[in-house]
Amino acid sequence: MKFADLGLSDELLQSVLDAGYDTPTAIQAQAIPSVLMMRDIIGIAQTGTGKTASFVLPMIDILAHGRRRALMPRSLILEPTRELAAQVAENFEKYGKNHDLKMALLIGGVQMGDQVKALQDGVDVLIATPGRLMDLFERGKIMLNGCSLLVIDEADRMLDMGFIPDIETICSKLPPQRQTLLFSATMPPVIKKLADKFLSNPKSIEVARPASNNTNIAQHKVHVTTRGKREALRQLLRTDNVSTAIIFANRKTTVRELAKSLQQSGFSAGEIHGDMDQNARNAELQKFKDGVISVLVASDVAARGLDVKGVSHVFNYDTPWHPDDYVHRIGRTGRAGASGRAFTFVTDEDAEAIANVEKLTGMKIPVFTLDGGDAAAEAPAAEKRERAPRTERAPRAEKASRRERAPKAAAPVDEIEVSPEVAEEAAPVPARAPRARRDEPRPPKDVLTELPSKPGEWNGPVPGFLGVSAL
Ligand code: AMP
Repeated sequence: MKFADLGLSDELLQSVLDAGYDTPTAIQAQAIPSVLMMRDIIGIAQTGTGKTASFVLPMIDILAHGRRRALMPRSLILEPTRELAAQVAENFEKYGKNHDLKMALLIGGVQMGDQVKALQDGVDVLIATPGRLMDLFERGKIMLNGCSLLVIDEADRMLDMGFIPDIETICSKLPPQRQTLLFSATMPPVIKKLADKFLSNPKSIEVARPASNNTNIAQHKVHVTTRGKREALRQLLRTDNVSTAIIFANRKTTVRELAKSLQQSGFSAGEIHGDMDQNARNAELQKFKDGVISVLVASDVAARGLDVKGVSHVFNYDTPWHPDDYVHRIGRTGRAGASGRAFTFVTDEDAEAIANVEKLTGMKIPVFTLDGGDAAAEAPAAEKRERAPRTERAPRAEKASRRERAPKAAAPVDEIEVSPEVAEEAAPVPARAPRARRDEPRPPKDVLTELPSKPGEWNGPVPGFLGVSAL
């Protein structure tokens, strides 16, 4: 199957080819023809599957015909965070370069005045986080009754962040005769109910979860003691043919301390976590992108929006507290057809957490035994018995040669698409108890509005995408 078989216009096919793609991913192949036929869609797919283009591409062709009207966006894409909203905007910029479409971003952290001005001139595509959209709607600055296409992206994450009541309100303001596309990595009952209520005869498309079915990622768990973690990590970084790695820790303090300790051990390591301001985070990401650092120690929230190609390894220095995070973390490697390796450190205290991960992914993660076996000695007896035989692991000769190649000279990372801000919008009334696992509190709205927005940057009110100039 090629993009040319999906019914997209020639101009659009050209921009897809220019972006370097000729073969659609599974979600794109299944969703694009149906969206073009104006069907409602439920897409069960995660980031990393190419789902963004699966709605952006057909939307561009659908919106190519029709007129913009002041204050009445023609389509609306709801995203849970600013960074995801920005990534969608970048997709519109990339694929919409041969079309005359105007787009606006309505996200926290930027001046509302500029966003209102953009809306006044009329937009074809409005990409918004629910909180900011509700604010403007309640002030009468936006009308949703001209919006005939709605995308609800990352619906399960919207649920986590307490946005479902807002989404219900927004849905009820849109014309009932509209097309609705809903994407979610999982389908908890609340999301199912939302879909039943607001979608009409939807086509359901489910694509493989990266964690369970992405055979590009070789997953391992490593039994360690808390005290043995650093040495175990250093050993793997030195011996497992690491070119670039993201290391996840559950707490910001661990992120900071670990990055420092790796630097002291001679690794070119950087850090990214919620306590860093936007500029510092950007700078660190740029260094990772440029290959100045090869190891990035990260917290979950800080790394959520990362779309990095060429990451060879993900290390879960701490077993994630929530199994969904495991899926998101390891999905930072093995992207877009590349192969990757993911190691999860498991202490005795992590027994329940790792069991939850294995339940969610539907697979028992093979145990990896470190050379020297100190850390492995901590494995529970039952686990020791089920360890993969040596032949299933890297051959010894290969390992020996790997040992000489510590990842100090970083291989450059091809691509980083990331927002400058972690940017989970301040959640309104939670639909269910917020998860306590986050390593950083969500910033309150007044903090978000103080974040800088430079003209021309994608997180500005109306970036220079799709011919939207300084509105
Ligand atoms: P997404 O799931 O939308 O976050 O996309 C994940 C990554 O896949 C992004 O870096 C996209 O640029 C990339 N991508 C999107 N479509 C394709 C495709 N057809 N072939 C290869 N990579 C793609």
